[in-house]
Amino acid sequence: MKALCWHGKEKVQIDTVPDPAIQDPGDIILKVTSTAICGSDLHLYDGYVPTMQKGDILGHEFMGEVVDTGAGVRTLEKGDRVVVPFPIACGHCFFCAHDQFSLCDESNPNKSMLDKMYGHGGAALFGYSHLFGGFAGGQAEYVRVPYADVGPLKVPDSLSDEQVLFLSDIFPTGYGAVEEAGVKPGDTVAVWGCGPVGQFAIQGAWLLGAERVIAIDRVPERLELARTKGRAEIIDASKERVMDRLNELTGNRGPDLCVDAVGMEAHGVGTVDAVVDRVKQAVMLGTDRAHALREVVQACRKGGRVAVAGVYAGLIDKFPFGAAFGKGLTFTMGQCHAHKYLRPLLQRIQNGEIDPSFLITHRLPLDEAPAAYKTFRDKEDGCIKVVLKP
Ligand code: NAD
Ligand code: ZN
Repeated sequence: MKALCWHGKEKVQIDTVPDPAIQDPGDIILKVTSTAICGSDLHLYDGYVPTMQKGDILGHEFMGEVVDTGAGVRTLEKGDRVVVPFPIACGHCFFCAHDQFSLCDESNPNKSMLDKMYGHGGAALFGYSHLFGGFAGGQAEYVRVPYADVGPLKVPDSLSDEQVLFLSDIFPTGYGAVEEAGVKPGDTVAVWGCGPVGQFAIQGAWLLGAERVIAIDRVPERLELARTKGRAEIIDASKERVMDRLNELTGNRGPDLCVDAVGMEAHGVGTVDAVVDRVKQAVMLGTDRAHALREVVQACRKGGRVAVAGVYAGLIDKFPFGAAFGKGLTFTMGQCHAHKYLRPLLQRIQNGEIDPSFLITHRLPLDEAPAAYKTFRDKEDGCIKVVLKP
């Protein structure tokens, strides 16, 4: 089959590789009908996630048709159309039993590596390095999906691939970030980053009753989408001082809930901390660029909440922990427990409350994935979200 494979920093290509096969009784094989490139894939593309190996198949946002089932699979059969959440979860460990699917204790065969880094390692993720299990991803013609009775969600034929594909990740991630942070009616929610995750955090904030949403980025078309589809007030970080604008907009109090939908490759706009981060990341002295996260902590109101949806992987230098402590902030963060949002969010799509396809700017054949990675990373050609068709 054809698959998009990682071959090094900024080097991905379509290779011909062996078709996946059932390995465990709980597996299914999917014929992928649609897959997408995520901001998290960019951390792999840009070489910031360790333990990638040449030839690893990328992709954790995908859906398709079941073409083979293991002997133990009870809930799915050949021909079913499913969308697959990006963390791999066993469904029965302590963490899965507590709906913390991305912290699953069982799914990651390389958990001991993560244990060394984090004290306690979490779930495997599709197509996301050997540290996260070494599972092949879904930017391919076929993919093996383990624990098939736990993750994949059957989707009705009345909904198109484009309407349900983002249940795999960015819709639950953006929505879940504000939900877990306890957004409530009356809240002013500020969202850093108007990429796909930020767009869904904005949508989630409205769905859950926020009173105001303020969106921050520096890419014009992304800000524009936040303003039009997201009905957000916008701040262009390349032109305005974010902290000052947020204070102006909130009567000097600061937003109630601040969402970091940027992550470890944040751009700083000429500030000293951002330059230091960039140098340290380049020479591998520090691993994460935390410019947005620092600003989030500074800007949040006293007693406010910080939701970190953006991915951080390693160490952050010069983190204003004193400000976080002094203001009594509450943090929620982590890889999304996507499984727990699948059904409720599918219901919202079916009810017509939201059509997640609004942010797709590029529809391309899988063959064009290598160029699409660059277009998405560099935000060329108005690119906000790429959907690939194998
Ligand atoms: P993206 O790269 O398309 O979007 C990031 C956006 O942040 C860009 O529009 C960029 O211009 C903007 N940005 C950069 N620096 C900024 C700054 N200092 N202030 C404000 N905006 C800034 O990616 P995405 O797909 O939207 O993903 C965003 C983050 O969420 C990534 O780190 C990704 O890995 C992460 N993510 C997390 C989960 C999870 O489960 N927690 C799931 C999916 C993605
Ligand atoms: Zn993703």
